Amino acid sequence: MRASKLAILAVTTLVAALLIGSLVVQMQAEAASVKNNTPTPTTTNYGFSLVKQNSKGYPEARFERPTPLPPIFQPPELSEADFNITAAGEAKNISRGAKASTTDAALSLAGSIYSWRNQGVLVVEEGQLTVGDKTYSVESGRGVFNTKTKYGLLIIQIRVVDEGSKQYLALLQGRVEPTESEGVYNVSFKAQMVRLAGIYLLKLDGTLETTTTLRTYSISTLGGTWDHTTITIKVEESPLAANYTDAVIKAIRTWNDTLRVFASQYSDYSYLSNIVLKLTDSDDANVKIRFTDEGKFRIGGETQTSFKESNIFKNITVTVRVGSRYTENVVYAVTLHELGHALGLGHTDIPEDLMYPVLTSWGLRSVGISTLDLYGVAQIFGWLPNGTPDGFNVPRVVTLPVSIPYEVVEGS
Ligand SMILES: [Zn+2]
Repeated sequence: MRASKLAILAVTTLVAALLIGSLVVQMQAEAASVKNNTPTPTTTNYGFSLVKQNSKGYPEARFERPTPLPPIFQPPELSEADFNITAAGEAKNISRGAKASTTDAALSLAGSIYSWRNQGVLVVEEGQLTVGDKTYSVESGRGVFNTKTKYGLLIIQIRVVDEGSKQYLALLQGRVEPTESEGVYNVSFKAQMVRLAGIYLLKLDGTLETTTTLRTYSISTLGGTWDHTTITIKVEESPLAANYTDAVIKAIRTWNDTLRVFASQYSDYSYLSNIVLKLTDSDDANVKIRFTDEGKFRIGGETQTSFKESNIFKNITVTVRVGSRYTENVVYAVTLHELGHALGLGHTDIPEDLMYPVLTSWGLRSVGISTLDLYGVAQIFGWLPNGTPDGFNVPRVVTLPVSIPYEVVEGS
């Protein structure tokens, strides 16, 4: 598929325009460089940081009072698909001096479609337009559609050539309406001017069919696993700890709940129900969480991993940066994210996911553990059915199988 950069840009701009002004908090990880080729005993830094949306955006004090977002703002679902348009009807030559006669006309177009909810951009890659006994092949084209407007607007401009290689431009305007079948739309181009050898009035009806390319969901791992299933967590004592231990308790509960939900939903991974995150006072805890109000504001959290032997974690230290500028939600989201690292997860490039290194305010609002995150943990603990992690290789990248839909797991 020849993807047009311009088309992607157009959609990206659209998304940005819709979301801008409502991004209150954005978290961004440091580019984490993981030296996992030599895991014995190395230290890995997994940063998770806060950044402002733009330089003249919000003052940092703004982080105290995030604006509630209107319900329209959901994580964007940008998808790419192939499309096919076939339509047939009639063409009337309305050029000055031409006989007002009507001939048959047909149109077929194929290409890529980039959609975001009800709107999208079409990139025409090939096609054919027939008017009477003349056939024009489509060289290129571009279109936009919006099924939410009153008439479901569809505009496509195509560049065509005739048998004599003469170029023409055709502007097709019409309607696009969803049908009961997913990805299939009815299209009708009516009363539109087409500048071919003459000026035609086209009336074409047909369908626009889209074939969605399956989006793949992948997440990286830290390359390690634990050699036991109860992962103990200690909150380091500090004057701050008293205020934020609740966020840790809540995050631990969320992980434990969702691990159980996933284990019961997907029996292949029922062994996940054995994994328990547990708060402890012991200094021997596997994971230590430290709250600090020092350091750079932009760093939201940090995870340091050390290995005791190849692929087996020794201990993990999580630092969560807090202070009056961080809301409870931010602290909870960062803690939930860092506990994902404590279970061995790395980052994903799925923007709406908990383990995405950048968390926007809409991400914060819907922060939860996804099937991708839990499937990742299942792969990290893939040694459990065999009873021992000896010789177990933790995959570096985990891809969610098609049989498991990507979704936030209930209990998050
Ligand atoms: Zn992270």
